[in-house]
Amino acid sequence: MALQDQVAVVTGAVQGIGRAMAEILLRNGAKVALLDVNEAAGKSLKEVLDKQHGPERTLFLSCDVESEEQIRANQMPPSCSIDPSSLQRFSDATGGSQQACSAAFQRTAGALGAVDIVCNNAGVLNEAEWEKTISVNLVAVVRVTYIALEHMNKMSGGRGGVIINTASMAGLFPLLSCPVYTATKYGVVGFTRAMAANSTALGFGIRFNALCPGFVQTDILDNIYERLGQFSQLSAETQVFVDKGVLKTSEVAEGLLELLTNDTKNGEALQVMCSSQKYMKFPVFT
Ligand code: NAD
Repeated sequence: MALQDQVAVVTGAVQGIGRAMAEILLRNGAKVALLDVNEAAGKSLKEVLDKQHGPERTLFLSCDVESEEQIRANQMPPSCSIDPSSLQRFSDATGGSQQACSAAFQRTAGALGAVDIVCNNAGVLNEAEWEKTISVNLVAVVRVTYIALEHMNKMSGGRGGVIINTASMAGLFPLLSCPVYTATKYGVVGFTRAMAANSTALGFGIRFNALCPGFVQTDILDNIYERLGQFSQLSAETQVFVDKGVLKTSEVAEGLLELLTNDTKNGEALQVMCSSQKYMKFPVFT
Protein backbone atom coordinates (compact mmCIF):
# COMPACT_ATOMS: atom_id res chain seq x y z
CA MET A 1 0.00 0.00 0.00
CA ALA A 2 1.13 3.54 -0.80
CA LEU A 3 1.60 4.65 2.83
CA GLN A 4 2.25 1.30 4.53
CA ASP A 5 2.99 1.80 8.26
CA GLN A 6 3.68 5.50 7.89
CA VAL A 7 2.52 7.45 10.94
CA ALA A 8 0.23 10.44 10.41
CA VAL A 9 -1.06 13.14 12.74
CA VAL A 10 -4.33 14.75 11.59
CA THR A 11 -5.76 17.79 13.41
CA GLY A 12 -9.50 18.41 13.30
CA ALA A 13 -9.74 14.69 12.51
CA VAL A 14 -13.07 13.56 13.88
CA GLN A 15 -15.48 14.91 11.28
CA GLY A 16 -15.70 16.55 7.88
CA ILE A 17 -12.54 16.79 5.78
CA GLY A 18 -10.28 15.61 8.62
CA ARG A 19 -12.24 12.39 9.03
CA ALA A 20 -12.04 11.71 5.29
CA MET A 21 -8.28 12.33 5.51
CA ALA A 22 -7.95 9.84 8.36
CA GLU A 23 -9.96 7.27 6.42
CA ILE A 24 -7.92 7.53 3.22
CA LEU A 25 -4.67 7.39 5.22
CA LEU A 26 -5.82 4.20 6.94
CA ARG A 27 -7.02 2.62 3.69
CA ASN A 28 -3.55 3.24 2.29
CA GLY A 29 -1.78 1.51 5.16
CA ALA A 30 -0.90 4.44 7.45
CA LYS A 31 -1.42 4.60 11.20
CA VAL A 32 -3.23 7.75 12.31
CA ALA A 33 -3.29 9.93 15.43
CA LEU A 34 -6.65 11.75 15.46
CA LEU A 35 -6.35 15.13 17.22
CA ASP A 36 -9.49 17.12 17.95
CA VAL A 37 -11.24 19.17 20.63
CA ASN A 38 -14.43 17.13 20.20
CA GLU A 39 -13.79 14.30 22.60
CA ALA A 40 -17.18 12.58 22.27
CA ALA A 41 -16.99 12.43 18.49
CA GLY A 42 -13.35 11.35 18.75
CA LYS A 43 -14.17 8.39 20.94
CA SER A 44 -17.02 7.25 18.67
CA LEU A 45 -14.88 7.59 15.56
CA LYS A 46 -12.10 5.60 17.21
CA GLU A 47 -14.59 2.77 17.90
CA VAL A 48 -15.70 2.75 14.25
CA LEU A 49 -12.12 2.78 12.96
CA ASP A 50 -11.05 0.07 15.43
CA LYS A 51 -13.63 -2.28 13.90
CA GLN A 52 -12.51 -1.48 10.36
CA HIS A 53 -8.73 -1.35 10.77
CA GLY A 54 -7.86 -2.72 14.23
CA PRO A 55 -7.29 -0.76 17.45
CA GLU A 56 -3.53 -0.55 16.98
CA ARG A 57 -3.88 1.56 13.80
CA THR A 58 -5.30 4.73 15.40
CA LEU A 59 -4.97 6.87 18.51
CA PHE A 60 -7.48 9.56 19.50
CA LEU A 61 -6.02 12.51 21.40
CA SER A 62 -8.30 15.20 22.77
CA CYS A 63 -6.22 18.23 21.86
CA ASP A 64 -6.81 21.91 21.22
CA VAL A 65 -4.41 23.15 18.53
CA GLU A 66 -4.59 26.60 20.14
CA SER A 67 -2.69 25.23 23.14
CA GLU A 68 1.09 24.87 22.92
CA GLU A 69 1.13 22.69 26.04
CA GLN A 70 -1.47 20.33 24.73
CA ILE A 71 0.65 19.61 21.70
CA ARG A 72 4.15 19.90 23.06
CA ALA A 73 4.71 19.24 26.79
CA ASN A 74 7.98 17.56 27.75
CA GLN A 75 10.25 17.28 24.77
CA MET A 76 11.67 13.86 24.03
CA PRO A 77 13.71 12.65 21.09
CA PRO A 78 11.64 11.09 18.28
CA SER A 79 13.09 7.67 19.06
CA CYS A 80 11.88 7.81 22.68
CA SER A 81 9.59 4.91 23.44
CA ILE A 82 6.50 5.45 25.60
CA ASP A 83 4.20 2.75 26.87
CA PRO A 84 0.74 3.99 25.76
CA SER A 85 -0.99 2.23 28.65
CA SER A 86 1.08 4.21 31.16
CA LEU A 87 0.07 7.44 29.46
CA GLN A 88 -3.58 6.40 29.61
CA ARG A 89 -3.19 5.72 33.32
CA PHE A 90 -1.58 9.17 33.69
CA SER A 91 -4.46 10.71 31.82
CA ASP A 92 -7.05 8.97 33.95
CA ALA A 93 -5.26 9.88 37.17
CA THR A 94 -4.94 13.54 36.29
CA GLY A 95 -8.55 13.78 35.36
CA GLY A 96 -8.91 14.21 31.66
CA SER A 97 -8.19 15.70 28.34
CA GLN A 98 -6.10 18.70 29.33
CA GLN A 99 -3.38 16.49 30.78
CA ALA A 100 -3.97 13.61 28.39
CA CYS A 101 -3.18 15.69 25.32
CA SER A 102 -0.22 17.50 26.83
CA ALA A 103 2.20 15.52 24.72
CA ALA A 104 0.33 14.81 21.50
CA PHE A 105 3.40 14.27 19.37
CA GLN A 106 5.23 12.26 22.02
CA ARG A 107 2.16 10.13 22.63
CA THR A 108 1.82 9.49 18.92
CA ALA A 109 5.48 8.47 18.66
CA GLY A 110 5.14 6.18 21.66
CA ALA A 111 1.94 4.50 20.55
CA LEU A 112 2.23 4.42 16.76
CA GLY A 113 5.87 5.25 15.91
CA ALA A 114 7.77 8.34 14.78
CA VAL A 115 5.64 10.79 12.83
CA ASP A 116 6.03 10.85 9.02
CA ILE A 117 2.97 12.89 7.99
CA VAL A 118 1.21 15.89 9.55
CA CYS A 119 -2.12 17.19 8.26
CA ASN A 120 -2.82 20.64 9.70
CA ASN A 121 -6.53 20.55 9.03
CA ALA A 122 -8.40 21.93 12.10
CA GLY A 123 -10.20 25.09 11.13
CA VAL A 124 -13.16 27.35 11.93
CA LEU A 125 -15.07 30.03 10.07
CA ASN A 126 -16.42 32.78 12.28
CA GLU A 127 -16.17 36.39 11.13
CA ALA A 128 -17.75 37.58 14.40
CA GLU A 129 -15.12 35.75 16.48
CA TRP A 130 -12.38 36.82 14.10
CA GLU A 131 -9.48 36.54 16.53
CA LYS A 132 -10.33 32.91 17.20
CA THR A 133 -10.51 32.30 13.45
CA ILE A 134 -6.96 33.64 13.09
CA SER A 135 -5.80 31.67 16.12
CA VAL A 136 -7.10 28.28 14.93
CA ASN A 137 -6.67 28.66 11.17
CA LEU A 138 -3.26 30.34 11.02
CA VAL A 139 -1.47 30.65 14.37
CA ALA A 140 -2.10 26.98 15.21
CA VAL A 141 -0.85 25.84 11.79
CA VAL A 142 2.45 27.59 12.51
CA ARG A 143 2.53 26.20 16.07
CA VAL A 144 1.88 22.58 15.09
CA THR A 145 4.30 22.84 12.16
CA TYR A 146 7.14 24.09 14.36
CA ILE A 147 6.51 21.34 16.92
CA ALA A 148 6.37 18.79 14.09
CA LEU A 149 9.69 20.09 12.77
CA GLU A 150 11.34 19.26 16.09
CA HIS A 151 10.35 15.62 15.52
CA MET A 152 10.70 15.30 11.75
CA ASN A 153 13.57 17.57 10.68
CA LYS A 154 16.40 15.46 9.24
CA MET A 155 18.88 18.13 10.32
CA SER A 156 18.07 17.43 13.97
CA GLY A 157 17.79 13.64 13.88
CA GLY A 158 14.28 13.22 12.46
CA ARG A 159 13.53 11.14 9.39
CA GLY A 160 11.75 13.78 7.29
CA GLY A 161 8.26 13.43 5.89
CA VAL A 162 5.39 15.50 4.53
CA ILE A 163 3.29 18.31 6.06
CA ILE A 164 -0.01 19.14 4.38
CA ASN A 165 -1.94 22.24 5.40
CA THR A 166 -5.65 22.54 4.64
CA ALA A 167 -6.04 26.00 3.14
CA SER A 168 -9.00 26.73 0.85
CA MET A 169 -9.93 28.33 -2.43
CA ALA A 170 -10.24 31.32 -0.08
CA GLY A 171 -6.45 31.14 0.13
CA LEU A 172 -6.26 31.90 -3.60
CA PHE A 173 -9.28 34.16 -4.22
CA PRO A 174 -11.08 36.42 -1.72
CA LEU A 175 -14.20 34.76 -0.36
CA LEU A 176 -17.03 37.28 -0.30
CA SER A 177 -18.32 38.01 3.22
CA CYS A 178 -15.34 36.24 4.86
CA PRO A 179 -12.39 38.67 4.97
CA VAL A 180 -10.73 37.23 8.05
CA TYR A 181 -11.20 33.60 6.94
CA THR A 182 -9.73 34.65 3.58
CA ALA A 183 -6.77 36.28 5.33
CA THR A 184 -6.04 33.14 7.33
CA LYS A 185 -6.13 30.90 4.27
CA TYR A 186 -3.91 33.25 2.23
CA GLY A 187 -1.61 33.08 5.25
CA VAL A 188 -1.64 29.27 5.23
CA VAL A 189 -0.78 29.18 1.52
CA GLY A 190 2.05 31.69 2.02
CA PHE A 191 3.42 29.89 5.07
CA THR A 192 3.32 26.55 3.26
CA ARG A 193 5.17 27.85 0.23
CA ALA A 194 7.78 29.65 2.34
CA MET A 195 8.35 26.55 4.50
CA ALA A 196 8.73 24.43 1.36
CA ALA A 197 11.45 26.77 0.12
CA ASN A 198 13.14 26.81 3.55
CA SER A 199 13.03 23.03 3.72
CA THR A 200 14.78 22.74 0.37
CA ALA A 201 17.37 25.36 1.32
CA LEU A 202 18.10 23.99 4.79
CA GLY A 203 17.70 20.24 4.16
CA PHE A 204 14.76 19.48 6.47
CA GLY A 205 13.80 16.48 4.31
CA ILE A 206 10.17 17.55 4.65
CA ARG A 207 7.82 18.43 1.80
CA PHE A 208 5.21 21.12 2.51
CA ASN A 209 2.02 21.43 0.47
CA ALA A 210 -1.40 23.06 0.83
CA LEU A 211 -4.82 21.80 -0.16
CA CYS A 212 -7.17 24.43 -1.57
CA PRO A 213 -10.68 22.98 -1.80
CA GLY A 214 -13.75 24.82 -3.01
CA PHE A 215 -16.88 24.47 -0.88
CA VAL A 216 -17.15 21.05 0.76
CA GLN A 217 -20.25 19.52 2.33
CA THR A 218 -19.35 19.68 6.04
CA ASP A 219 -20.66 21.37 9.19
CA ILE A 220 -18.77 24.57 8.28
CA LEU A 221 -20.99 24.91 5.24
CA ASP A 222 -24.19 23.98 7.07
CA ASN A 223 -23.89 26.90 9.46
CA ILE A 224 -21.87 29.38 7.44
CA TYR A 225 -24.47 32.16 7.28
CA GLU A 226 -24.80 32.33 11.06
CA ARG A 227 -21.11 33.12 11.35
CA LEU A 228 -20.65 35.93 8.86
CA GLY A 229 -20.98 38.62 11.55
CA GLN A 230 -21.22 42.14 10.09
CA PHE A 231 -21.09 40.64 6.56
CA SER A 232 -24.20 38.45 6.90
CA GLN A 233 -26.07 40.80 4.54
CA LEU A 234 -23.88 39.35 1.78
CA SER A 235 -25.05 35.78 2.40
CA ALA A 236 -27.04 35.65 -0.85
CA GLU A 237 -23.96 36.60 -2.84
CA THR A 238 -21.97 33.91 -1.03
CA GLN A 239 -24.69 31.38 -1.90
CA VAL A 240 -23.89 31.96 -5.58
CA PHE A 241 -20.48 30.38 -5.01
CA VAL A 242 -22.01 27.43 -3.15
CA ASP A 243 -24.43 26.89 -6.03
CA LYS A 244 -21.50 26.41 -8.37
CA GLY A 245 -21.00 23.05 -6.70
CA VAL A 246 -20.10 21.40 -3.44
CA LEU A 247 -17.40 18.77 -3.05
CA LYS A 248 -17.59 15.53 -1.08
CA THR A 249 -15.01 15.21 1.69
CA SER A 250 -13.66 12.09 -0.06
CA GLU A 251 -12.73 14.23 -3.08
CA VAL A 252 -10.57 16.46 -0.88
CA ALA A 253 -8.98 13.35 0.63
CA GLU A 254 -7.99 12.20 -2.89
CA GLY A 255 -6.13 15.50 -3.26
CA LEU A 256 -4.35 14.78 0.02
CA LEU A 257 -3.24 11.37 -1.25
CA GLU A 258 -1.89 12.94 -4.44
CA LEU A 259 0.19 15.44 -2.43
CA LEU A 260 1.46 12.72 -0.10
CA THR A 261 2.43 10.13 -2.67
CA ASN A 262 3.88 12.33 -5.40
CA ASP A 263 7.45 13.02 -4.27
CA THR A 264 7.82 15.89 -6.74
CA LYS A 265 5.19 17.98 -4.94
CA ASN A 266 6.69 20.65 -2.68
CA GLY A 267 5.31 24.16 -2.21
CA GLU A 268 2.15 23.25 -4.11
CA ALA A 269 -1.23 24.90 -3.47
CA LEU A 270 -3.46 22.22 -4.94
CA GLN A 271 -6.91 23.34 -6.02
CA VAL A 272 -9.62 20.77 -5.47
CA MET A 273 -12.66 21.85 -7.42
CA CYS A 274 -15.83 20.28 -8.66
CA SER A 275 -16.00 18.05 -11.74
CA SER A 276 -13.85 19.22 -14.64
CA GLN A 277 -11.90 21.73 -12.56
CA LYS A 278 -10.71 19.10 -10.09
CA TYR A 279 -6.99 19.18 -9.19
CA MET A 280 -6.26 22.21 -11.38
CA LYS A 281 -3.17 24.10 -10.34
CA PHE A 282 -3.81 27.80 -9.81
CA PRO A 283 -1.79 29.57 -12.53
CA VAL A 284 -0.49 32.40 -10.33
CA PHE A 285 1.57 29.87 -8.38
CA THR A 286 3.04 27.94 -11.30
P1 NAD B 1 -15.69 20.78 10.29
O1 NAD B 1 -16.25 21.82 11.17
O2 NAD B 1 -16.56 19.69 9.81
O3 NAD B 1 -14.41 20.11 10.97
C1 NAD B 1 -13.46 20.88 11.66
C2 NAD B 1 -12.86 20.01 12.77
O4 NAD B 1 -11.85 20.79 13.43
C3 NAD B 1 -13.89 19.61 13.83
O5 NAD B 1 -13.76 18.24 14.11
C4 NAD B 1 -13.53 20.48 15.03
O6 NAD B 1 -13.86 19.89 16.27
C5 NAD B 1 -12.02 20.62 14.83
N1 NAD B 1 -11.47 21.76 15.54
C6 NAD B 1 -11.95 23.04 15.54
N2 NAD B 1 -11.19 23.80 16.34
C7 NAD B 1 -10.21 23.02 16.83
C8 NAD B 1 -9.13 23.24 17.72
N3 NAD B 1 -8.92 24.43 18.28
N4 NAD B 1 -8.30 22.19 18.02
C9 NAD B 1 -8.53 20.97 17.48
N5 NAD B 1 -9.55 20.70 16.66
C10 NAD B 1 -10.38 21.71 16.33
O7 NAD B 1 -15.07 21.59 9.07
P2 NAD B 1 -14.35 21.11 7.72
O8 NAD B 1 -15.09 21.72 6.62
O9 NAD B 1 -14.10 19.65 7.71
O10 NAD B 1 -12.99 21.92 7.88
C11 NAD B 1 -11.70 21.31 7.87
C12 NAD B 1 -10.72 22.26 7.25
O11 NAD B 1 -11.06 22.45 5.87
C13 NAD B 1 -10.72 23.67 7.85
O12 NAD B 1 -9.38 24.14 7.93
C14 NAD B 1 -11.50 24.49 6.85
O13 NAD B 1 -11.17 25.86 6.90
C15 NAD B 1 -11.08 23.83 5.57
N6 NAD B 1 -11.96 24.04 4.41
C16 NAD B 1 -13.28 23.76 4.48
C17 NAD B 1 -14.09 23.96 3.36
C18 NAD B 1 -15.58 23.68 3.38
O14 NAD B 1 -16.29 24.19 2.50
N7 NAD B 1 -16.08 22.85 4.29
C19 NAD B 1 -13.52 24.43 2.18
C20 NAD B 1 -12.17 24.71 2.14
C21 NAD B 1 -11.38 24.49 3.27
